[in-house]
Amino acid sequence: MCCRIWEGNKYQDCGHFYHLWQEPISVIDCNNASCTHSARHPPNCRNCFHHLKHWEPDMLKTLYRRTGICPNCKRAAAAGGS
Ligand SMILES: [Zn+2]
Ligand SMILES: [Zn+2]
Ligand SMILES: [Zn+2]
Repeated sequence: MCCRIWEGNKYQDCGHFYHLWQEPISVIDCNNASCTHSARHPPNCRNCFHHLKHWEPDMLKTLYRRTGICPNCKRAAAAGGS
């Protein structure tokens, strides 16, 4: 199965990895013709029902280690009050 590599920042206080981009910075191709994400997979595949459609667990590339909490947690804290 193919694997996506994401770039982001790691926040010390909440321990979350915050994705910087909507798209992965790169994808590791498994070179398997029966994997729908692979470049080897035929575009007009007829047996796609049986083919692999899920991804390997994401690979996370930390750009910066930040102190504090991530923007998601900040937003949640601001919305949720206490
Ligand atoms: Zn694959
Ligand atoms: Zn297929
Ligand atoms: Zn967080």
